[in-house]
Amino acid sequence: MRATLDFLLNDWLQVDTLLQRERFADHSPETFASVLDTCERIAREKYAPFNRLSDTQEPHFDGERVHLPPSTHAALAAYVGTGMLAAAQDYEVGGMQLPCVVEMAANAFFGKASMAMVGYAMLTSGNASLLMAHGTPLQRQVFAKNEFAGRWFGTMCLSEPQAGSSLSDVATRAVPDGEGFEAEPLGPRYRLRGNKMWISAGEHEITENIVHLVLAKIPGPDGALVAGTKGISLFIVPKMMVDTRGALTGERNDVALAGLNHKLGNRGTTNTLLNFGEGKFPLRGGSGAGLDGAGSGAVGYLVGKPGEGLRCMFHMMNEARISVGLGAVMLGYAGYEASLDYARQRPQGRPFTGNGKDASQPQVPLIQHADIKRMLLAQKAYVEGGLALELFCARLVDEQHTGDAAAAKDAGTLLEVLTPIAKSWPSEWAQEANSLAIQILGGYGYTRDFPVEQYWRDNRLNMIHEGTHGIQGLDLLGRKVTMNGGTGLQLLAERVSRTIEQAGQQAGLAEPANQLAAALQKLGAATKAAWATGVPEEALANATPYLQAFGHVVLAWLWLDVALVAQRVGRQGQVAAMRYFFAYELPKIDAWLAVVAQRNDTCRTLLEEWF
Ligand SMILES: Cc1cc2nc3c(=O)[nH]c(=O)nc-3n(C[C@H](O)[C@H](O)[C@H](O)COP(=O)(O)OP(=O)(O)OC[C@H]3O[C@@H](n4cnc5c(N)ncnc54)[C@H](O)[C@@H]3O)c2cc1C
Repeated sequence: MRATLDFLLNDWLQVDTLLQRERFADHSPETFASVLDTCERIAREKYAPFNRLSDTQEPHFDGERVHLPPSTHAALAAYVGTGMLAAAQDYEVGGMQLPCVVEMAANAFFGKASMAMVGYAMLTSGNASLLMAHGTPLQRQVFAKNEFAGRWFGTMCLSEPQAGSSLSDVATRAVPDGEGFEAEPLGPRYRLRGNKMWISAGEHEITENIVHLVLAKIPGPDGALVAGTKGISLFIVPKMMVDTRGALTGERNDVALAGLNHKLGNRGTTNTLLNFGEGKFPLRGGSGAGLDGAGSGAVGYLVGKPGEGLRCMFHMMNEARISVGLGAVMLGYAGYEASLDYARQRPQGRPFTGNGKDASQPQVPLIQHADIKRMLLAQKAYVEGGLALELFCARLVDEQHTGDAAAAKDAGTLLEVLTPIAKSWPSEWAQEANSLAIQILGGYGYTRDFPVEQYWRDNRLNMIHEGTHGIQGLDLLGRKVTMNGGTGLQLLAERVSRTIEQAGQQAGLAEPANQLAAALQKLGAATKAAWATGVPEEALANATPYLQAFGHVVLAWLWLDVALVAQRVGRQGQVAAMRYFFAYELPKIDAWLAVVAQRNDTCRTLLEEWF
């Protein structure tokens, strides 16, 4: 993988051009390489050997405490030691000012080694980055800085038992904590009560404190909650109370673990049902006496303005979704490498000859069969294509933050359109790669003696969290391609056309270039046809096939763009993967786009009782 990663970063994306920017001026190709070396080594030594253990020794709650294998504590301590939690942050908050694309590339090694152990770190840096964007100077100093330093870890508490995809139905309440609630130095102080479901990393003892970022509603004067997402606010709710210097006060906040969820995969990350403010840990300190006069209610400090909670959360979504997509890719990559290794070693069957099979000859390794090569090439196309997609998006984040005004604006617009793809495409296709890896190992792949089944189980999560597959489709077709008069789609089409033009002039690439031009045209036509009547139910009934087709067109584009460079530097494997993608994958868009363009109503008009 390292050679592919280096090729994508250096030859294709030319990350060294970022060194000319002021923000990255202290870096060099050597500092980038040394970050990758360190992360590759720590992932190999501290993560990979314990990935299976993190699955078999599932987190366990004894009623008081949650237990995790010591190797998880050691792996995360090693990660904290690399400084990667703050890799892309400013020097003054302990960061390295690394480009996002290098940060993501370095984190890819951990994802491949043990996705379940990566969860804690991903959530922590996401949480702290949100506070850097929306917190007060003291909130940044006390909470974000301690998270970047790895002293405390963080969570994102959005979901509730009755509010998953539909966050407008969040029912956790936040009420001002006494008269002087607004004068609290850590931010306006509220008391929260409600239940948060599915909270990853919601309880553990890896760090001395956990900083929960919680969405809750502040009731109006009549005591009722405002309907819809506009009423949602964001709060910092620490597990242990802290003072303005960041020292623990010794009091426990009223956040209680109701239980752990027992998951299909990704088991090494604790997943929790948290009760906020039920009175298990009453707190009398501060300005108020709690919700019941006896100290119940979890203390939370408002972040940003009331009613702007979801906006603040969404600030982080682009990067969080690139991280989820990258995680999916890396699980796919792990399965690809394991099945490639197996296919090279396992002798089974004999090749066809002019006279049939010659049983007197020794068996050949699996990799010599065309069907096994098909499954390996499919995996390669999915995971290396997915890696290119995530790095490309991360490079857009850098452009958005450090490019000139026009380039930054374009990068932001493109990211808006590509983010649903960055999240959902690898969730689906790197998962398919994991399934093919199992298939290559045959019966052995179906056992727990080989790692591929765990990769498949771990990866199954990615189509569900951070916005389900269906919700990503609705976001793409319902919002992203139509917003601002369709400028995002137009910009994407321009970029794709540029690649088509270059490929048309390079030997051997004219045919895929023509194929991509036709695909782009079909995508544009289907988008228009979907919205031809302007009726959202008609357009959006087939939003998921649209998402799939859109993703495949984006991937075909990126593969062609990668092949332009791969061909020049003699990387035959990438050229073959591009050819595979155009021959076996891109034609699938016709079926997906047909139902979109027809506004096919088979599913939409089906009556429940017909099932
Ligand atoms: C392992 C794991 C970790 C998680 N970690 C966190 C975390 O750290 N923090 C957090 O806040 N949440 C977390 N989640 C929650 C996750 O984000 C939700 O599971 C997800 O948002 C879906 O919500 P739900 O499970 O209630 O499913 P539902 O919203 O009930 O969805 C069920 C199905 O219905 C579809 N659906 C729903 N609404 C619509 C609609 N309007 N139109 C069409 N189809 C629709 C969905 O696409 C899905 O296929 C985690 C979940 C899991 C499983």
